[in-house]
Amino acid sequence: MAKTLTIHDFFKRFPDDAACLAHLFQIRYGYGFGCPKCGEIGTFRKLSKHPAYTCNCGHHIHPMQGTIFQDSHTHLTKWFYALYLFTTTRHGVPAKELQRQLGVSYPTALRMAHLIRVHMTAQRGVAVRLGHVDANQGRHAESCRVADAKLAL
Ligand SMILES: [Zn+2]
Repeated sequence: MAKTLTIHDFFKRFPDDAACLAHLFQIRYGYGFGCPKCGEIGTFRKLSKHPAYTCNCGHHIHPMQGTIFQDSHTHLTKWFYALYLFTTTRHGVPAKELQRQLGVSYPTALRMAHLIRVHMTAQRGVAVRLGHVDANQGRHAESCRVADAKLAL
């Protein structure tokens, strides 16, 4: 098992939403990903104003689509930090604690904690035991090591 990611390592690795999105893209599609539209490999670049990538042909890829992050207005850095907390604590993380640490509203913290718990439960026995959190609930079933907070983070 990989060594536990320290809080210092975590913030160094995920300083902003762009770094989190890049990690999500890499985990879900990899660097040698071929564009579904034109077939070009590795041509995706980040769109400046949207959490998405585009190919030279104009095809867009949305790494958050089909994950627990989809449709959320909460910053990816907060989601990643929440996942970090869930994967580095033994007894779970109460929504109140998420609210305090992330600076989000209680309903937001409650929703985040619920989605993370449901997803971790769905992955129990495989992903969680390996220290991975599968953030992907969509058609791509690959494990998202977003919170291999013990980490390959
Ligand atoms: Zn393309």
